[in-house]
This record gives sequence, C-alpha cells and structure tokens, in this order.
Amino acid sequence: MRPTAAGRSWFAVGAAFLFLLLVGAPACQLPPPLPQEPADYGTGRARDATAEIPSGELLVRLADQEERLELEVGGVGEGELRFSAEGETIRCSNGERRASFRVVPQRPRGALTLDGRSYYGALWIRLHENQGLRVENQVGLEHYIAGVVPSELVLWSAEEPEIEAQAIAARTYALQSLMHRQKTGSAAFLWDDTRDQVYLGNYRGESSPAAQRVEARYRRALASSRGRVVLNSAGQLYDVRFHASCGGNTCSPAEAFPSESGLHHAAVACEPCRMIGAKERALPATDSTRRRVHWNWTADGPALSQLAHAIGVGQHVLALRDVKVDRHARWQSVVVEGDQGHLRISVERLRRELGPARLKGSAILRTWPALGDPIESGLFFEGVGRGHGAGLCQVGSHEYARQGWSARQILQHYLPGARIAAVPSE
Ligand SMILES: [Zn+2]
Repeated sequence: MRPTAAGRSWFAVGAAFLFLLLVGAPACQLPPPLPQEPADYGTGRARDATAEIPSGELLVRLADQEERLELEVGGVGEGELRFSAEGETIRCSNGERRASFRVVPQRPRGALTLDGRSYYGALWIRLHENQGLRVENQVGLEHYIAGVVPSELVLWSAEEPEIEAQAIAARTYALQSLMHRQKTGSAAFLWDDTRDQVYLGNYRGESSPAAQRVEARYRRALASSRGRVVLNSAGQLYDVRFHASCGGNTCSPAEAFPSESGLHHAAVACEPCRMIGAKERALPATDSTRRRVHWNWTADGPALSQLAHAIGVGQHVLALRDVKVDRHARWQSVVVEGDQGHLRISVERLRRELGPARLKGSAILRTWPALGDPIESGLFFEGVGRGHGAGLCQVGSHEYARQGWSARQILQHYLPGARIAAVPSE
C-alpha cells in the first residue's frame, strides 16, 4: 500500500473519532489536559512511511517544497539527512532508497528543521505526481494551531482575547475543512499557505525581555483556548472564515464563496473597521501611514492583458461594466469587456486573476476610468477592507479586544449563532 493512502485512511479514522467525541461534547466544558510537548516519535532515523496517524493529528502540505528535486532535514541526529528524487524512488543520504520516508526527530520532544523552519511531529517525504518531491508535516492539532496563530496575527500588538479568538477560529477551520474534505472524498490535508491557513512551523520568539513578554501572553492565550472550537446552532462545527479587515461590514460566506454551498450565516456590522477606514480614506494618497483598512491600487497594462487572456476575452481589457453588488456595496461579479468578447466573472475570480494581495478586497469604492468608460493604459481601484470579508474580521477583533471584549464576545459577534465548545482530544 502506498503510504499516502495509508496516511489518509488513518486520518479518516482519527477525524471520525474526533467528530464522534465532538458531537457529544457539552458546551463550555474545559478541555482535558494535553501533553505540552509532542509524543516521542522514536529513533531519529528516516524509516518507511507506514505509521498510523492517530486522532488529534493532521497532515499539512508544505507548499514551498512542492516538486523540489532535493532537500535537507535537520534535527535527525548529527548533520542532516538529504533526500533526492531519482526516478520512481527517493534516495536518502543514509544510503536507503524508498518510495517514501517518514522522518522523525532524534530527540523525543525534539523538532525537525527544513529550510530554516522548525516542525514538531514527523515529515513525510514522498514523490510528487509531476516531478520531484512532496513534503507533509504530520503534526498534533495543538502544535499546528500554535504555529498558525503567529503566522496569521501580529503577535507584538495582539491582545490576549484576540489571540484566543484567532486560535479558536483556526482550530475550528482546520477540523471543519478536514471533515468536509473527508465527506466529499477529497484528500484530507491542509495547505500551509493562504489556500488554507498560513503555517510557518513552530513559533520561535526572540530573547529580549519585550519579546519574552509577547511570548508569555501568546502562550497564556493558547493555553486558555486549548481544544476549543465554535459550533453552529445545529451543534456542528461552524464554517469559520477569517480575513484581515472587512471595511465596515462583513459579508456572508455564501456571498464571498458563491461556488461553495451550505455557508449561510449572516453578515454583521463592524464599527471599528468603518471608523478606521473613514480616517484612512481622508489621508492624502502620499501619506505613508500603514493602512489597515483603506487601500488603492492601479492595474497596469500587462496586468489587465493577463486578466483578458486568463478569462478568454482577448489580449486587452477595454472596460469593466455591470457590476453586481451586495447590500453593502461589496462587488459580487463584474462583466469584463475584452477586445475579443466579454465575460461575467465573480469578484473572487477577478481578485484571483489580478492577485489578491493587489486587489485587496471586494468593497471597491470607485475605479478610474469609471465603470463602463474605456480603459486606456491602466485601471485605478480604491477600496476598503482586505480579504474576502467573510466571518471573523481581524482588525475588528483587535479593536474590540482593546475595548475589553472577551474572545467569546468577539466570536459571537462575527459568527452569529455561534457557541464555544471543547474538543476532547488527546
Ligand atoms: Zn471589520
């Protein structure tokens, strides 16, 4: 049996077990104590990938390693182990050749290193279906969450309830996504980038007194939110999404992700974002103050040509027209007029094609030239809010936490009908 299949089927058992426990979990129950350090995975040697993945662990696929021809893993004893793809097998510098390897740290409770990052648990190294290698981190849920939170928040300025809310949202997202994928027959792993949640391995703080205070706050927040998840009114895992800032109103997941069904919770008002957005909008364009809500960006000729080409309307975008907006004026879809045809696309697709880090959100206040007017050399966008706008707003969460809101209040504001429960896990 290929290790991939073995890993997935064992994860399925684990996920199903977790789900059964979850359904019976009373709200607000304190989670059972979990080990502070990862389990002892043993010998520190690279060995064949036939181990089980117990409940409470998951697989995270490392996007940067996709199709790498060779890589080096540290934390396995003296020196590093080098792996390289050679035809149908992987060659390890210890002399072994296999179809896959499961690498574990030498020291019990130790961590592996790869490309300057540190990982608890095990690294599974397999052949990629195209070429080269593929790496997945088999990691305990709580260690995974401890790696996600500092990648998704600015820990230096984060308030404790904000960190707790982010940890609970991230844990719920991970479990809900894996269970959904399992149910629909998709592979049960999470990407370590924005396709799921950003996870850069273990958090490694600095040694200055200020950094240690930050880390202590982060560890306290993780401990007090350990094992907690958000349930919907039907007692199932909430379909939690989060984003950087909403611009004043969140949108429902059904509006942000029209291609996915079953996401029905409501949009809510976000007063902190509305006020910050208005303040930032009044700043002169040349003001270099770091903006959290308001943004602008000009799509140049090449970016627009790429868009036209990607959606099949020719080589040039002549105009954008007939925007459909939701009740908060957030774009939902737009007609892109090209030199060889036109096509209505969702704003999700528009952002994906132009680059979500550039076209930062869908609450677009204006364009220049205006909608329907001919585009000559470029197209200017001005908007508020960063990200898809569904679910938990991180700027709002930060501001409400500063005002004294608890993690529970924050989550229940952005996720209507939510209640917090504990996942009994090992
Ligand atoms: Zn907001």
